[in-house]
Parts: sequence; structure tokens; C-alpha cells
Amino acid sequence: MYPGFLRPVIRRIPSGAKQALRAGLLRVRDSWRAWNRGAEPAAEQLGQPCRYCLQADGQHLVLGEVGVTHHGPFERDAYQLLQCARCEVVYLEPVPSTQDLITLYQNSEQFSDPHYSDPEQAARILDFYSERLQRLDLTPAAGAHCLEVGAGLAWVSKAVKRHRPDAQTWAQDVSSECVQSCPWVDHYQVGALENLAPMPAMQLISLTHVIEHVPDPNLMLAQLMPLLQPGGKIYITAPYRPALWKTADGIGPWRDYSYLHVPAHISYLSESWFRQTAARVGLDLIHWEQNHDAHQALEAVLQKPAR
Ligand SMILES: [Zn+2]
Repeated sequence: MYPGFLRPVIRRIPSGAKQALRAGLLRVRDSWRAWNRGAEPAAEQLGQPCRYCLQADGQHLVLGEVGVTHHGPFERDAYQLLQCARCEVVYLEPVPSTQDLITLYQNSEQFSDPHYSDPEQAARILDFYSERLQRLDLTPAAGAHCLEVGAGLAWVSKAVKRHRPDAQTWAQDVSSECVQSCPWVDHYQVGALENLAPMPAMQLISLTHVIEHVPDPNLMLAQLMPLLQPGGKIYITAPYRPALWKTADGIGPWRDYSYLHVPAHISYLSESWFRQTAARVGLDLIHWEQNHDAHQALEAVLQKPAR
């Protein structure tokens, strides 16, 4: 995104400052485009139960309507984007239907896109997860087990094997598309989490860009918790929100947000939601960052108490 003559300079900037710089540039771009599009209708208030913090009389802001961004056919072509005032989660309303989720994940090829198959891009993704495993002290011990949920091409399992070839890598996905492409996975299971064959206790469970696709992430964390060994950790990455977005900015910046995938991305979770939900299912939120990819993606680590 920078002109060639600036690249040597950009390379010398520390990573945190670089992400902040990119975020600032995106925010300027979003403001400019929103100004050019003209005024959006003002966000309305809506009282209804929150699917995320489970508050019965949750106050929401209806940010606006967002159209479907994937090829269908889907049962509906637009959703409301809501934000809960209490837990701050931004989410699609209504929940996409079961049939639409099947259309998205079981009847389509997701990983033939150049984003996944380009070798340079693949190397960058692998380097990123290798670095994060080390930085966050997540690499399983020798002989320990790790599970990648919604694994697809199982990048985290590959990064684990790079650091610890004798770790046992397990992967789960509802689609069989990538099973033959991941020799670094020792045990690849296809099916819903609740239908998997019994597994040993996990030292690490990873969900990278998965939780935003799940209709009920509260239930998913409750299902994953018993699969962890005491002291085991869950590593999560997901879209967060447009760069430096605040509620008062309204729907405008979402229209240019590259992670706004409708209806695939059902939720854009918050630190508040992670903290509350972790406590409810018996985990601790031990790491939170919202500055990845120019402050557009989040990273969280949850840990099961040691005893
Ligand atoms: Zn809520």
C-alpha cells in the first residue's frame, strides 16, 4: 500500500507504529469515502435480547443495513448490523439460516482462492502464526496435543510442527476440502465439534478467523473448555472492526471494511464479551490485542486454570 521509494523507510518502523500508521491512513480513507457517499440514515435504538452477553433487555444501536457480499444463492440478501450497548459486540441480525450456512461452508470451495494458494501469501501467514506462537508462549510441549478448530489448511498446526515436530496435531473442520492438503496434521477429523471421536486433553486449541463465522460462540467456548488440559490455552484471532472505529462513526466505515463478509462473518466480538464469556465457562482471558492488521483484527488467549 506504500509507494516503492518509501518501502526501505517503512521497513525500519517498529511493527506497533506501522500498524498505527496504517490504521490512521485507513481511517482517513474511510472518512473521505463516507463523506463522498453522503449522509447515512441516523442509527436507531433497538431493545431486544443480546445473543452474545445474554442480557434479556439488551439495548442495541442499529448501525444500518448491509448487503450480502458472497455468491449465494442465499435466503436473504441483506442484514441489519447491530451493536449491543452492554457487551459492545457488533453482529448481524438475524442469524443466517442453517441452509445459508450449509451453502457457505459445505457446498463451496473456500481455499482455491489465490489468498490461500499463493506461495508468498502462504509463507507470510505461516511466519505470522509461528511468531505469535513463540511470542505468546503457546507452542505445545514435546508430545503434547493441540487442536485446530475450523482448521481449513491448518496453518497453526503447521507452525506448531515447525517449532515442535513431535507435538501431536489434531484438526477439525466441517468441510473435507483440505484434508488431503495438510500432511502436518496427524489427525484430521471432518464433522461438527460435538460429533468428533474422543481425543486426548489439549494443551492448545486454536481458532484463527473462525469464531466470527460461528452462530453461537458462547456455546463453542463452553464446548471447547472441557477439551483442554488444566493450564491449557485457547488462541483466537478474528476480525475486530474498521480501523479506529468508534460507535459514533456509525455504519460508514463498515462499508469499506475488508472483513465485512455478509453473511459469513456473523459477529465482531469485543474484549468485554471475551472477559464475561471466559468467566462464565471457567476460563481466564490472559491476553487481548486489537491492533492486528492495522487495528482491524483481534487476538485473544484464554486459559483454563491449572487446577
Ligand atoms: Zn450484548
